[in-house]
Order: sequence, then C-alpha cells, then structure tokens
Amino acid sequence: MDNIMQVYLDNNATSMVSPGVREAMLPFFGELYGNPSSMHSFGGNVAKYVKEAREKVAAMFNVTPEEIVFTSCGSESDNHAIFGVLEAQPEKKHIVTTKVEHPAVRNVFKHLAKTRGYRVTELSVNKKGDLDLEEVKSSLTPDTALISVMSANNETGNIYPIGEIATLAKEKGIICHTDAVQAAGKINMDLQHIPVDLLSLSGHKIHAPKGIGVLFIRRGTRVSPFIIGGHQESGRRAGTENVPYIVGLGKACEEAVQFMDAEMHQVKALRDKLESGLMAAIPYSHINGDPEHRLFNTLNIGFEFVEGEAILMHLSKYGIAASSGSACTSGSLEPSHVLMAMGIPFSYAHGSCRFSLSRFTTDAEIDYALKVIPKVIQELRELSPFYTENK
Ligand code: PLP
Repeated sequence: MDNIMQVYLDNNATSMVSPGVREAMLPFFGELYGNPSSMHSFGGNVAKYVKEAREKVAAMFNVTPEEIVFTSCGSESDNHAIFGVLEAQPEKKHIVTTKVEHPAVRNVFKHLAKTRGYRVTELSVNKKGDLDLEEVKSSLTPDTALISVMSANNETGNIYPIGEIATLAKEKGIICHTDAVQAAGKINMDLQHIPVDLLSLSGHKIHAPKGIGVLFIRRGTRVSPFIIGGHQESGRRAGTENVPYIVGLGKACEEAVQFMDAEMHQVKALRDKLESGLMAAIPYSHINGDPEHRLFNTLNIGFEFVEGEAILMHLSKYGIAASSGSACTSGSLEPSHVLMAMGIPFSYAHGSCRFSLSRFTTDAEIDYALKVIPKVIQELRELSPFYTENK
C-alpha cells in the first residue's frame, strides 16, 4: 500500500481532546492557577469556572449542579458509587450486576464477594448481549443493597434498558447505579426520566482529557465519601479540584449536547457504511451485539479463522487503530468476558475486533479502512491451516 493513512477507530478506548476543550483548558495552566477554595481573588476567579463547568455537566443529564461530584476517572466513580452505597447500608449483603460489566465494576464486586462476604448475582445475557428484564426483576430481594448495570457496553455498544431497570429497583427500594462511561454524550440521558440514583461518567471518552470523571449522586441518596479529607465537593470527595480538567469536561459535555443529534446521523452513517462494506467483502464474519440496540459509533465483528491480536497488529502497520476487546483486558489471550457471556463460539470470539468511531472520523478514513481490513483478513487467513481446510 503506497499511502498509509492514520485512522483512529478506537474511540471507546479513548478519544481525542477536542480543539474547543483544549482551548477552554489552556488559561488554567497559565494565569488562572488559584485554588478555588481560597478566599482571595485568585481563588474566586477560578471557582466561578468550576461552578460553570458543574452546571454544564448537570445540564447534560437534566439534574442539579449539587448532584454532580467531580472524580479522577470512570473507575473512581464506579468504585465510589459501589463502596459508598454499601458502606451506608451495612446490614444488606446482596448485590446485583451483569456478566458484561467493565472491570471497574465487575472486579470490585468480585473483590467484595471474596473479602467481605457479599453475595453477587451476575445477570446473564443472550446471544445478542441483551438482558432479560424478568431475570432482573426476580434477582432483587429484600437483602439487595445495590443493582449496578451499565448503560451501554464498551465492547459491543449494546444499550441496556436502564430506565426500566432503575424503575424496577425503585419499586423495591433498592439503590440503582449505572456505569454510563460509554453511553454518556452518545445517547440522551435525561435523569428526570431515568430514575437511577448514581451514574458514572469518564471525560476521556467524550473528548475531554484522561484523568477526570463524574459521579452523579441523586439528592437524598445515602453514599459514604470515598476520599476523606477536606470539604471539597461538599465533603463527598476530598482533594483540591483538578480545575483545568473540570473546565475541559464542562466544555466537552456542552459540545456533546450540541453535536449529539448531528453525530447520531453522521457517525452512524459512517459506522453503517463500514459495517456493510466489511460484511459484504469478508466471508465468515459475524456482528457481535444487538444491531437494533447499539451505540451509533460502535461495531464489533468476529472474523473466523483469524486471531484478533494478529488483525490488530497488521492493521496497525497500515495506520489503523482498533481494539480486540476492552483496552484494559487486551494483552491477555483469554477471549473477552463479554463475548464469552454472550456464548459467542471460540471460532470467532478469538477473531473479534471492535471499531469505534467519533465525530472526528471522516468518510475518507472509512474508505481507506474498507480497502485495508479485507486485505489484512485475507492475508492472515491464507496463513491459517484451519481456513485452507475449511473454506
Ligand atoms: N466503564 C466503562 C464501560 C468503560 O468503558 C471504561 C473505560 O474503558 C471505564 C468504566 C473506566 O473508565 P476510566 O478509564 O475513566 O477509569
């Protein structure tokens, strides 16, 4: 291939800081360096931007700024929600979650089961990765302290009916948390209509930098603080505020709201073009996930007779960045726990790749990807004895 293009199709792992976000942040690495808690003007000048950013994040979810707590990342928000809710209800020892959560939730529950005697119900998913609401309902008991279900899955893009799940929990007086790290900014999450008590968000998935997150805590929800110290975040999360990143996140949320409708069409059209092009050009390939209930930017395909890691390495040589599962778990040779929970056969679970787009993805990049990916898969298959025997 003569002209190698750099094509970033791994936005569910992390996304580019948008030019608007970068610009909004810059003054806070320069003249606006005060501590927002200080009484003098250096502090006051900065505190007003933190307040403004909190209002922008709150607006994205249609909640009040007082219900927004800034954290350092999505994982911290998930940990804060889970440990905070359980500590506030020590008498209850049962937790409900799913088999397809991100490790930032799943491994916390595994840890709690192992070290603190919690009983954890992991809800199963069907072949498309969908949950059964009847199973959700029957899993909730008087001893259940918390149900935590992600709003959208990082690997398949599947969107879960979090409004219905939160309503079921509410009927039984059970606290409901959702990890909305992949969903926030991509689907409309009006929390006046989705009665979750807690929600996690991560800045770097929505064009803010890495190292900033949010935990939404609905007014009246009992949650113990996760980081104890000063009075910041109304005593719910101590530590001097990460002002530049908070400002960046506020801007990113504002932009997400501004671009969401357009993205829903533009990014989806590019994702669909990539999907139909690859499915037409590459035999023995399968879409992983629920095509009807999926984030508009995500495509997960299982290719038979090839290894996901090999595909990624070859694509990388041609400038294309994708992922073979969640970035945090790739590197291990185990197939992804999400695909395993869906009962995806080993024959293509191992050869699965995730392509995730953003509003910065262009038509020319998708054309290039459609030229390169089928070529790479074909070359790798020619090397596979399974392929030559079975084709
Ligand atoms: N939850 C989900 C669904 C994710 O996809 C991720 C990151 O990939 C996280 C949580 C963790 O977020 P962070 O990287 O900000 O800790």
